[in-house]
Amino acid sequence: MNNITRVISNLEFVKEVDAVEAIKTNYRRAIQERLHDLTALKLSCGGKSKTATNSYPKSKVSHGIPENIIVFDTATLMSKLDIDNEFDFWNALLRGISNPIMDRLNIDRICDENDIPVLSEKILSKIRSAYNESKERDDDLSVFLEKILREKWFGESNKTVEDLLGAFYHCDNIRIELYAQVIAYYSYVLGVSSGCLAFVVLTHELAHAYTMAGYDINSCRGELLCSYYDKYIIEGLAQYYTEAVCKQLEISLPGVSDTFLKLRDGQRAPYKDYQNWLGSGSFDHERFRKDLMVFRGSVKSFDPALW
Ligand SMILES: [Zn+2]
Repeated sequence: MNNITRVISNLEFVKEVDAVEAIKTNYRRAIQERLHDLTALKLSCGGKSKTATNSYPKSKVSHGIPENIIVFDTATLMSKLDIDNEFDFWNALLRGISNPIMDRLNIDRICDENDIPVLSEKILSKIRSAYNESKERDDDLSVFLEKILREKWFGESNKTVEDLLGAFYHCDNIRIELYAQVIAYYSYVLGVSSGCLAFVVLTHELAHAYTMAGYDINSCRGELLCSYYDKYIIEGLAQYYTEAVCKQLEISLPGVSDTFLKLRDGQRAPYKDYQNWLGSGSFDHERFRKDLMVFRGSVKSFDPALW
């Protein structure tokens, strides 16, 4: 158990939540330009598009992929449960479950060092009871609570790439979601600004979007949409490009590279394994781009025109 050293007020927490939207507004264009440069892919297509398996052109114009900042309606539930402090709500929800999900063990170790307030079993049990009693569970918060409380996190899916801090829906209604309160919460856990953490998460989800749903120069989106995937490769590609973009834009937003490394420290193997791909340890964007094209099914590895 941690010692309570300070209370994070709702006002302070909301400021960190609001910073997530500001990062999207101020940096999405720069991040997208970097990802376009690195992958030679783009999110929008002004003309005809086709898949790798179906070369039939479709007369469809794509205007990009929406990035939705999700701010869960916690006020209603907290009021109903007589919970005053939003940080305590997220602290209990994200750290209070006995059977850890994702990377909580490592994150908890970091928490201990940062003296995050003690988790409240009482709050978690209130949230759990309210969730079990609720009948309508199709709002954003209920869907998220189900993932956490019923441990439906990280099920392999042919429609979604789920990260705790954000998600990429790559089949129906293709879109990115960033979970602003979760980002704000973990910014305290990691000892970083929520702006920097939002930048890292936005870049990571955009990297999923470019690698899995980007259009190549032939207007081809590859074969990864709506398909089962290898988590190590999908997350590895996103992490590789996220690290590269953080390094390139560090001068614009100091601290993003450090934030990326602190987050990665607490993540599971699929988010770390790509470091073994680097060989000598240096980036090789052209080699990665070619491997990416093969994985997307856009080209065959033995295509003499490319290799
Ligand atoms: Zn991911």
